[in-house]
This record gives sequence, C-alpha cells and structure tokens, in this order.
Amino acid sequence: RAKASGKGRHTVFEPAMHAALLDRVELEAELRDALRREELTVSYQPIVELATGRVTGFEALARWTHARRGIVPPGVFVPLAEETGAILPLGRWVLARACSEAVRWRADAPDAPPVGVSVNVSGRQVEDPSFVDDLRAVLTATGLEPSSLTLEITESVIMRDSETTLRFLREVKSLGVRVAIDDFGTGYSSLAYLQRFPVDVLKIDKAFVDQVAQGGNDAAIARTIVSLAETLGLRTVAEGIERPDQHAGLRLLGCQLGQGFHYARPLGAHDAAAFLRQRRGGEGVAEETTLRR
Ligand code: C2E
Ligand code: MG
Ligand code: MG
Ligand code: MG
Repeated sequence: RAKASGKGRHTVFEPAMHAALLDRVELEAELRDALRREELTVSYQPIVELATGRVTGFEALARWTHARRGIVPPGVFVPLAEETGAILPLGRWVLARACSEAVRWRADAPDAPPVGVSVNVSGRQVEDPSFVDDLRAVLTATGLEPSSLTLEITESVIMRDSETTLRFLREVKSLGVRVAIDDFGTGYSSLAYLQRFPVDVLKIDKAFVDQVAQGGNDAAIARTIVSLAETLGLRTVAEGIERPDQHAGLRLLGCQLGQGFHYARPLGAHDAAAFLRQRRGGEGVAEETTLRR
C-alpha cells in the first residue's frame, strides 16, 4: 500500500506494489502482442429460451491464454484494453470471429431457425467514429444476416453521453443489427432515456438473478425489469443462472431467455457447435451439460 511520507508527500511504494505496477506495464505491452501471437480466443455461451430449452444464440466472450501467465481473466484484460485503446483492434477481431462462427452454425443446419450471436462492445468502441464502417465491412465479408447479430452495451456506457449513444444506436439499427443493454439494473437508467433509445433486449444482471427464487428485493427488481421490458416491447435475458430454482423463478416472472452455468459454461468454438447440434436434435430443457470448458 502507498503511504504519503510526511512533508515531501512522496509516495513510497512497498515492493509488492512496485511489482504489481511493473506487471501491469508488462501486461499492457503483452496485450498489444497477444493478437499477433494468437493467444486470444473466443468462447461462446449458449442463450436459451426458458420455456423450451431451445438455444437461440450464443454470447461471444474473449479469452486470453498467456504463454507464461496462463489464463488472464477478461475482468483484468478488458479494462486494461479499454484504458490503452487496445480494445479497438481486440473488439474488431472478436466481432469478425463471432460473425464467421455464426455463419458456420447456420451452414451446419440451413433449415433450422437461425441462431444468433451477441458481441460485447465497450465504451471506446461506441465513441469510435469508424466502428459502424467496420461493422458493415464485417457483415459484408462474412455474409452474416444483420438480424442474427446483437451488440451488447452496458447500461453505464449507454447512459454516459446520450448524443453519442443515440447516433451510434441509430446507425447500428439502420444496418438491421440488434442491441442489448448489458448488466441492466446495475446502472442508473433514466426511464425517459430508455424509451428514447432504440434497443431490443435488456440483460438482467446476475446480481438480481442470484436470489430470484427466494423472493425479496432481488426478485422484485427482476420482476420490475421484466415488466418494464414488456411495456417497452423488449426481450429479457437473465444472466448468470446457476440453479434450477433460478431457472424456474425467472420463467415464472415471464423472462424469455436465460444464460448461465445451469445450461452451459462458455464453450470453445468446437464445443459450441457440438452443443448446438445436440440441442437441435430436439433435447429438452437443461440437463446439466457434460460439455464444460
Ligand atoms: P458480461 O458481458 O456481462 O458477460 C457475462 C459474464 O458472466 C461472463 O464472464 C460469463 O462467463 C459469466 N457467466 C455466465 N454465466 C455465469 C454463471 O452462471 N455464473 C457466473 N458466476 N458467471 C457466469 P467473463 O467471460 O469472465 O467476462 C466478463 C466480462 O468481460 C463480460 O461481462 C464483458 O463485460 C467483458 N468481456 C468479455 N469479452 C469481451 C469482449 O470481447 N469485448 C468487451 N468489450 N468486453 C468483453
Ligand atoms: Mg455481455
Ligand atoms: Mg452481462
Ligand atoms: Mg454481467
């Protein structure tokens, strides 16, 4: 921990903090190389219809396996990439990857209902003037039907600057791409804003899913989000469903879609395709999956 030292007010770093700083500087440099070194991958977590167990799509989640450090969690490298700007090339790469994967799911079963893909988009990308051109280029290059793509933007980013956000949303929507508000309920949405923003989906944050079957405040918030979504004509996805009671509770509240370890962990591309083939074979709801990654 840093201490201010008396008069001069120098900051005195203890060795552990010095090491942590060095580590961070190193990590920043390594993140810039990670793409080139092919250390990044994308995992796909199924999103299922609560009433039927049908897989309607997957959320693409970036993964970094560092040659020496091993797995660096997204909670560490995503904020770092946002600070340094590396999130722009990283985000473009994830988007392109996810869209090609979704085209492959479609090609696997051309007559089955389309399976969508959701991609997280950071605040930096929302502010990036070339984002929409890049998006258009990726859609053209991959041939993905725009309505099969959903961009996830966190509630706090959406609420940051309404003019930039509105312009971004209008451009994205004009391409036919969908938009979800991620981690909904954790920010401070103004209802007036929400009504103005052309979004399609609210993702109920895991925080309100945890205790949903126990009733109480979390369940009340989840119920409020679902009825708000109904009023605005939006779909709801509950995040972080881990247990059958949460699945049942959310289904009862009228939440349409869910995502969580109860159905499947984020899966490598190969396992995601296998999961989809298995579910398309007409299996019912939510036996614990044997595919864990
Ligand atoms: P998120 O977009 O809210 O993604 C959901 C997170 O919840 C994922 O964590 C997922 O693995 C985790 N999760 C899913 N089901 C469960 C569950 O049942 N229990 C628990 N405990 N966790 C569950 P992950 O993959 O570690 O990603 C964390 C965050 O990093 C994401 O939160 C997202 O904000 C960010 N992120 C990941 N990939 C990308 C990316 O490509 N671009 C950007 N901008 N952000 C990304
Ligand atoms: Mg997300
Ligand atoms: Mg989320
Ligand atoms: Mg979340």
